[in-house]
Amino acid sequence: MIIMKRIFENTSTAFALKTDSELERAYFLFKMISNEPLVRIGTAMTNFALKAHLPVDGLIRATVFDHFCGGINEKDCMSVVHKMWDKGVCSILDYSVEGKDDEDPLDHCLAKVLDILDFVKKEEGIPFAVFKPTGYGRLSLFKKIGEGKSLSKTEEDEWARVVNRFDTTCKKAHDLGVSLLIDAEESWMQNAADDLVEQMMRKYNKDKTIVFNTLQMYRWDRMEFLMKLHRTAKEEGFMVGVKAVRGAYMEKENERAEEKGYKSPICTSKEETDTNFDNCVNYVLEHLDGMSLFAGTHNEESSHQLIQLLDEKGVAKDDQRIWFGQLFGMSDHISFNLAEHGYNVAKYLPFGPVRDVMPYLIRRAEENTSVAGQTSRELALIKKERKRRKI
Ligand SMILES: Cc1cc2nc3c(=O)[nH]c(=O)nc-3n(C[C@H](O)[C@H](O)[C@H](O)COP(=O)(O)OP(=O)(O)OC[C@H]3O[C@@H](n4cnc5c(N)ncnc54)[C@H](O)[C@@H]3O)c2cc1C
Repeated sequence: MIIMKRIFENTSTAFALKTDSELERAYFLFKMISNEPLVRIGTAMTNFALKAHLPVDGLIRATVFDHFCGGINEKDCMSVVHKMWDKGVCSILDYSVEGKDDEDPLDHCLAKVLDILDFVKKEEGIPFAVFKPTGYGRLSLFKKIGEGKSLSKTEEDEWARVVNRFDTTCKKAHDLGVSLLIDAEESWMQNAADDLVEQMMRKYNKDKTIVFNTLQMYRWDRMEFLMKLHRTAKEEGFMVGVKAVRGAYMEKENERAEEKGYKSPICTSKEETDTNFDNCVNYVLEHLDGMSLFAGTHNEESSHQLIQLLDEKGVAKDDQRIWFGQLFGMSDHISFNLAEHGYNVAKYLPFGPVRDVMPYLIRRAEENTSVAGQTSRELALIKKERKRRKI
C-alpha cells in the first residue's frame, strides 16, 4: 500500500499527453483561477460580453474552453479520445449544453445523446454515455413534480415528452448494451429526476447495470436514499448503478436554503461530506453482486481508499463494475496513474458550442477557486513537471 500511496506522484505519466506549450497554458490558467476576485470579475465580464454578443468566443476557446473541453462537436473530440485511450484512459463524451427551457434544444440534446450512444458502441475508448436531466426537461417542471404539485394539461404533455426522452435514451443504451450515467443537479429538481431514473433502472437494469443515477454525497440524506433504493432493487430484481460524487452546487444550495428558511440539504462540514462519500463507496463494494460504482472524484484520499478496498476484497482492478472518473482538464495525475496501474478510468470530455458550455466552464472555474487545495495541488504538480522537463 505504501507504493500505492505514491501512485499519484508520477507527473511524467500524469502529463504524458501535454506538450510543453499545453503545460504552460495549464499553468497560466490555474494561476488565474486560483485568484478568487479575478474569477468573479472574469465571470461577470464574460457573461456581459456574451449577452452583448461581443466577439469573445476566440478568447474563451484559446483559454478555458480548450483546457476543459474536447471541442465544439463529437468529431473534434476524437483526437483527444484516441490519445487518452492510448494511455488506457477512457472518455465520456458529455454534451454540456445546460438548462434550456425551449423544446428545440431539449430535442437537440436527445438527438446528440442518441448519436453518442452509437459512437460509444463503436469506440473502445468510450465506455459510457451521459446526460443531464435538465438537458431533457425544464428545471422548473422537475421542481413542480418533485413538490407534488398538480400540473396543467400543457405541463402534463410536456412531462410526457421528458419521460419519453429519458425512456428513448435508456432503451437505446439497453439495446446496445452500453452503460449510461445520469448526472445530478440542484436538490429542488432532483426528487423528480430520481424517481424517473429509478423507473429506468427498474425497466432496463434487469440483467446488467445499464442506468446509473448520481448520488451527491454532500447531501446528508443520500445514504438513506441509497439503502432504500437498494432494498427496492433487491425486492423487485433490478441492479443499481451508482455514480458517487460529492456535489457541485453547494453554495447555491446553502444560499437558497437560507433565503427560503429551510434546513440546508448539505452536510454541515467537509468532513461530514467526506465520511458520507466513503460510506457510499463502502456500501456499494459490500453489495457488488447487485450494484456497480462509478466514483467521480478528484480527491486523492477517496481514490486511495477505493484502491485499498478493491485490494482488501479481492476485486480485480479492471472489474467492470468499478470505475474511477475525473473531469477532462483536472487531476490528470489521478487518471493517468490509475490507468497505468490497470484500473478502469474514464474522464468526462465536455463538448458543445463555446457559448452554450459557459455555465459548465464557470462552474469549473468557481470550483477550482473554492475547493481549498485543489488548485494549488494542480499548480504544484504542473510546476514539478515543468522542472522535470527543464522548461
Ligand atoms: C466524473 C465526474 C462527474 C461528476 N458529475 C457530477 C454530477 O452529476 N453532479 C454534481 O453535482 N457534481 C458532479 N461532479 C462534481 C463533483 O460533485 C465535485 O464537485 C467535484 O468532483 C469536487 O469534489 P471531489 O470529490 O473531487 O473532492 P474534494 O475536492 O475533496 O471535495 C470538494 C467537495 O466537497 C464538498 N464540500 C466542500 N466544502 C464543504 C463543506 N464546508 N461542507 C460540506 N461539503 C463540502 C463539495 O461537494 C465540494 O465540491 C462530477 C465530478 C466528476 C469528477
